[in-house]
Amino acid sequence: MRHVLDAIQSGASGDDLAALPLPESYRAALVRREDAAMFEGVASVDKDPRRSLRVEEVAVPELAPDEAYVAVMASSINFNTVWTSIFEPLPTFGFLDRLGKESVWGARHALPYHVVGSDASGVVLRVGSAVRNWKPGDRVVIHCNHVDDQDPSGHDDSMIAANQRIWGFETNFGGLADLTVVKANQLMPKPAHLSWEEAAVNALCNSTSYRMLVSRNGASMKQGDVVFIWGASGGLGGYACQYALNGGATPIGVVSSPDKVALLHEMGVEAVLDRKEQGYRFWSDEHTQDEKEWRRLGKDVRALVGEDPDIVFEHPGRQTMGASVFICARGGTVVTCAATSGYMIEYDNRHLWMKLKTIKASHFANYREAWDANKLIAQGRIQPILSAVHPLEQVGEAAYQVHHNAHEGKIGVLCLAPEEGLGIDDPEFRAKVGEDKITLFRRHGAQS
Ligand code: NDP
Repeated sequence: MRHVLDAIQSGASGDDLAALPLPESYRAALVRREDAAMFEGVASVDKDPRRSLRVEEVAVPELAPDEAYVAVMASSINFNTVWTSIFEPLPTFGFLDRLGKESVWGARHALPYHVVGSDASGVVLRVGSAVRNWKPGDRVVIHCNHVDDQDPSGHDDSMIAANQRIWGFETNFGGLADLTVVKANQLMPKPAHLSWEEAAVNALCNSTSYRMLVSRNGASMKQGDVVFIWGASGGLGGYACQYALNGGATPIGVVSSPDKVALLHEMGVEAVLDRKEQGYRFWSDEHTQDEKEWRRLGKDVRALVGEDPDIVFEHPGRQTMGASVFICARGGTVVTCAATSGYMIEYDNRHLWMKLKTIKASHFANYREAWDANKLIAQGRIQPILSAVHPLEQVGEAAYQVHHNAHEGKIGVLCLAPEEGLGIDDPEFRAKVGEDKITLFRRHGAQS
């Protein structure tokens, strides 16, 4: 891929890029099928992505008519790469095998290895014969909603499609690599004022938070709402806080260190709780929750903002869901997209039905939602939350950091981009948005 990088860096035209020979293989971060049992009997926390994630050369797959090859300049670590690398809750090879049985093109995905990664920024190199809106040379970011547009079930909301998948998690050929193969309807324009790595970290978490909070498919947040946000300096939470602030709502951010409290204050989130300092113990033992602790959290929220949250932004799952349902305001919404601490959830249903609360399920975003969320990044209204950058060779270490909650915001990964700071096409607009705002998490990450 060296010749591709040289061509991109020398400003080659789309036609020149299209004329470049594609290599037979490319560098990619992957897990191997034969390793799927390597952590059997090991506690989740001790399953080490540095052992399971490898960087190897793999064959370039054939291109379907509705797809594009993209030279990946940068990518990011999402929690789904942690799940794949620790083979929890299941090895992801089952997803690939199912896709493999669906169609001739699907069969390409069922391989002895799984190339992971669900975010990327880069340059289109080739498009299939059915692609209309994109061409070689286009600078793009990639969202991870992989849908079959010939399936009628996807034409109300593509997240409802029967065969909806997350690219790089439930499909092969993901973004943590020098090249990727994606459907053309995953492509979005790269925000021109951002570097490759700043542009690469947004699509998955930003779009998910947008759907959860802003979209009518999520909690339909409105001006004046109080929004309680778990993991407020993490991947999802860092965007959720920005949506609350932009949309005239009042965010209450929960984090777990004084450092993260300071970061949120710098973002403009005034109401912040340090859950470690407060020492909430929602579970008195493995099987029993403690309503007194839910009440204590509720009181702390009222003390901060004077009322109960209209929306609770939920993703930690088992550890927090009981508290989330309890503290949510009468008639409010708990919107959930995940269960990091366990998916067998318990809450007191009396607090739900008697106070007419709603639990709303959300998952990634449809193309329109991802597009609208990307537009807000391109307009400088939502900032990337990039806090650290690793080269592709260190992908295991980067995933380890996320697995151990040792990060803030998003960790970027350089793929073809040889160094940070490249790919900024509109420095004037960048200056207008403000270097300080764009790099807030990066500067904070460098200090801590
Ligand atoms: P991050 O690790 O970046 O952030 C999550 C934050 O949640 C942590 O930083 C931590 O913040 C907080 N947290 C973790 N465990 C607990 C706990 N037991 N109690 C309270 N807070 C906790 O991850 P992401 O934000 O990227 O993703 C979060 C989850 O959402 C993951 O499970 C991921 O797989 C899922 N996800 C789902 C998506 C979907 O489309 N369905 C899309 C994206 C993510 P602190 O320690 O500061 O409190």
